[in-house]
Amino acid sequence: MSLNIQDLHATLENGTEILKGVTLEIPAGEIHAIMGPNGSGKSTLSKVIAGHEGYIPTSGSITLDGVDISDLSIDERSRQGIFLAFQYPNEVPGVSNANFIRAALQARLPKGEEIDAVAYYKNLYAQMDLLEMDRKFTARAVNEGFSGGEKKRNEILQMIMLDPRYCILDETDSGLDIDALKIVAKGVNSMRSADRGMLLITHYQRLLDYIKPDYVHVMSEGRIVRSGGPELALELEKDGYEFLKEAATA
Ligand code: ADP
Ligand code: MG
Ligand code: MG
Repeated sequence: MSLNIQDLHATLENGTEILKGVTLEIPAGEIHAIMGPNGSGKSTLSKVIAGHEGYIPTSGSITLDGVDISDLSIDERSRQGIFLAFQYPNEVPGVSNANFIRAALQARLPKGEEIDAVAYYKNLYAQMDLLEMDRKFTARAVNEGFSGGEKKRNEILQMIMLDPRYCILDETDSGLDIDALKIVAKGVNSMRSADRGMLLITHYQRLLDYIKPDYVHVMSEGRIVRSGGPELALELEKDGYEFLKEAATA
């Protein structure tokens, strides 16, 4: 069981190649972090995995538990168990948070099966308590008027409720104060499980103080150029990405 990316190349619609051969395997049960300078292709990788339009895989493969998903639509990949945090529309006017998540769960059930409303709200409230979210957020329209921190917490709530097999979080830490960061980390840590893999993309090491990855990878110019344990993140925090330039001129 793994999310397996092999020698993945991908371009933008204008033909510019952004991913230049990414190889990365995230077995279920592990948390992998990708770090790297701005513009190295981290967000592009997450979008290509999730199946966003405008990001075109040209060679290589993306397989989910052995099944190639690179031709599936974004919705189909999500039904197969991929969740990319912070990809959803910022606001969904007129649709309450509770109904939005319920509709997403309902959409995955076989025809004729209904969500058990009592169990649904019990779980929703338990997860909101974990994320220290006020109950009033259930009735409010999705993200409407939410602060940056509230939006991120809400997205973690959606992720927990959807219970995906592979989670990708892109720059979850940006714009969060330390208290919000700790709460988001608590939510993510609550999802650690032997049958779930996670990919955390972050520009800074700070998030990894709260969510301990099994492996850290460095991305540069569309490739993974270094991999190591959690200590690699600390080393990068101390020394920065200077080694990339040295390697390029060597
Ligand atoms: P990172 O997340 O590591 O900062 P990105 O994947 O966002 O890097 O970007 C990698 C490169 O691809 C950058 O040069 C960026 O400008 C370019 N890029 C990504 N998406 C688009 C897009 N939709 N249109 C034009 N350029 C893009
Ligand atoms: Mg960027
Ligand atoms: Mg990015």
